[in-house]
Amino acid sequence: MKLLLHTCCAPCSVYCIDSLRKENIEPTVYWFNPNIHPYTEYKARRDCLKEYTKSIGVEAIFEENYGLKDFCKNVIGDLDNRCQNYCYPVRLEQTAKYAKENGFDTFSTTLLVSPYQKHDLLIKVAEQMAKKYDIDFLYRDFRVGFREGQNKARELGLYMQKYCGCVFSEQQIFLAHTNTKPNLPEGFEFLPVKRNIIISKEKNDKKQYINLLLEADPSEKIIQEYLKDGDLFVLRYKDDVVCIAVVTKLDNDTVELKNIVTKEEFRGEGYAKKMIKYLADNYKQRYKKMLVGTTENNIPFYVKQGFDKYEKTIKNFFVDNYDEEIWDGDLKCIDLIYYSKNLTDKN
Ligand code: SF4
Repeated sequence: MKLLLHTCCAPCSVYCIDSLRKENIEPTVYWFNPNIHPYTEYKARRDCLKEYTKSIGVEAIFEENYGLKDFCKNVIGDLDNRCQNYCYPVRLEQTAKYAKENGFDTFSTTLLVSPYQKHDLLIKVAEQMAKKYDIDFLYRDFRVGFREGQNKARELGLYMQKYCGCVFSEQQIFLAHTNTKPNLPEGFEFLPVKRNIIISKEKNDKKQYINLLLEADPSEKIIQEYLKDGDLFVLRYKDDVVCIAVVTKLDNDTVELKNIVTKEEFRGEGYAKKMIKYLADNYKQRYKKMLVGTTENNIPFYVKQGFDKYEKTIKNFFVDNYDEEIWDGDLKCIDLIYYSKNLTDKN
């Protein structure tokens, strides 16, 4: 089989190439990424991939296109949907076209390894391009090897990027790490805020938190089922209940985070992260792994909290188990996607 593998960067290619080779598929790597900015970043990723493919003896084609202007022109009208409206189609269309015109049997992409990408939308776009250019799209759920690939890339000393690629994704990362306190007039200063945070396990009336739990999981029936045997934790700031979480035991090694929700007025202040850190510290005394089932939109948040190993997808979970349609922002919830966090990790 002649496979053209669209490749976004060297670290993401590691697991994809290794696993394809285990299947006796020898991919040809195809670099076409007009979404990576600024130019120094584009060059760093491209040059690292050149060296890496050479070192492992993989054929690689480099389609040069530093497409900053075209990229910005095409996404500026709808920045929130830039990935699916422009960035995925432009890269996968070029890959499918090149594959068809140059005698390949099929094409695929290393974007399928990343839990940060919108996996189902990638499949949808790739299938559209396969149809348009009358060529097969080879789907593999490379996410199972994301952590393994990243670890190997670090060991090999490959260039590890800090953001997805476009300037808008760079801005998101930058803002997330920047202290956004406004400047105050001369002579004024911020008073230090004392975080009087207490997290405790609720032993008595767990049902008093049903209304808050319903904000993250709209089925009272399902909540009641896991609440029965689950541990419920409450994070309080001063006297206010701010964030709650429910954890159940699956087997001798594994627990599952079934629900975590922060009251609306406290969202965006890192309380859920604090709760997850507390839970991980607490359960790692006896368990090895914590699972979480989530929707596509929330995967990046959980991956950042260490849930970086893809486990499984339960297709149509939200359609089959809920009476009404469930929406997460503008995304209709259909599948439940599981990731896990290794509780034995040192950090
Ligand atoms: S965030 Fe990543 S996938 Fe989305 S538009 Fe930017 S570079 Fe492309």
